[in-house]
Amino acid sequence: MTTVSAYAATSPTEPLTPTTITRRAVGPHDVAFDIHFAGICHSDIHTVRGEWGGAKYPVVPGHEIAGVVTAVGSEVTRYAVGDRVGVGCFVDSCRECPQCRAGEEQYCDNPGMVGTYNSVGRDGEPTQGGYSGAIVVDENYVLRIPDALPLDKAAPLLCAGITTYSPLRHWDAGPGKHVAVIGLGGLGHVAVKLAVAMGAEVTVLSQSLKKMEDGLRLGAGDYRATSDPDTFKELRGRFDLILNTVSANLDLERYLKLLKLDGTLVELGMPEHPMSVPAGALIFGRRRIAGSLIGGIAETQEMLDFCAEHDVTPEIEVITPDYINEAYDRVLASDVRYRFVIDTSPLR
Ligand code: NAP
Ligand code: ZN
Ligand code: ZN
Repeated sequence: MTTVSAYAATSPTEPLTPTTITRRAVGPHDVAFDIHFAGICHSDIHTVRGEWGGAKYPVVPGHEIAGVVTAVGSEVTRYAVGDRVGVGCFVDSCRECPQCRAGEEQYCDNPGMVGTYNSVGRDGEPTQGGYSGAIVVDENYVLRIPDALPLDKAAPLLCAGITTYSPLRHWDAGPGKHVAVIGLGGLGHVAVKLAVAMGAEVTVLSQSLKKMEDGLRLGAGDYRATSDPDTFKELRGRFDLILNTVSANLDLERYLKLLKLDGTLVELGMPEHPMSVPAGALIFGRRRIAGSLIGGIAETQEMLDFCAEHDVTPEIEVITPDYINEAYDRVLASDVRYRFVIDTSPLR
């Protein structure tokens, strides 16, 4: 066991504070790595503020983790000391259920994936995330970061990247497809870049036109304010696919009407409270509403390789760990362009 510095939440209302945590001894199948960067995902905030219930304090958040391998177990075959690696939202799963066998470990139901934090590992110990100096993870749940991706920009891809890549692939975003992205935040801005790289025509639906210049620079062909009622009149029936990345409740009926016949709106944002959908909004136009959870290990590697090949990287603001609480406030105020990434060197 080793002791490492970290930042933890101790209750839903207190700011995160410095602490120390232990990491397990490197087992035969484990990879130990120094964490260089950790992204701040809105899910970290939902979790530590108790909005999803069930947080087990103290919680060290962080599931967008990038770093460099410092030790490997005796049976490890895929990684060596010095490799650039990452870890996303989960660090283990049963490996036996149909989903695990199909490489969709995020949908493991036996009893479920082991989250990178706020979960319990196979050793019975609580898992703690990336706002820390180092971590030990089974090699099967570690990703390789391609040389073309700097570690700070690779970090957000481990959640924001795969969460948007997976549904874009699943619902065939590509040439000739009209894709809308609701919310230009951490997930949303990566979704725009990925969908553009896949060849789709992309529209951003944001609360205002404040970030329009950025959205168009990222490759969107159209950018509309959802505060303007004309947006919903003019874009009616326009889209094959809508990705909703908003962390708060929306009036989904208005957005469903923007879908073409057989179009799909995919929920990626997970707000605290349920959202109601009138049946008619689905029935007319045979529209679908779906959800999607991050992505499996193989698809996450595919996404990283795709980003390296197509030069897709997030726009980030690198911060020191003592700025985490202000960063949380800024994320909540939609004042993020477009992902905060913690330089964890003070924690090593
Ligand atoms: P984020 O950076 O805060 O982005 C969310 C964006 O939503 C904001 O930038 C803002 O964009 C828009 N928004 C915020 N409040 C709004 C409101 N009241 N009304 C309308 N629009 C609003 O968050 P994120 O890290 O991208 O995460 C987004 C959501 O996805 C969170 O709920 C998170 O938990 C969830 N998530 C899900 C998965 C999954 O596997 N499904 C994975 C990761 C995260 P504009 O300013 O452009 O309007
Ligand atoms: Zn996340
Ligand atoms: Zn499983």
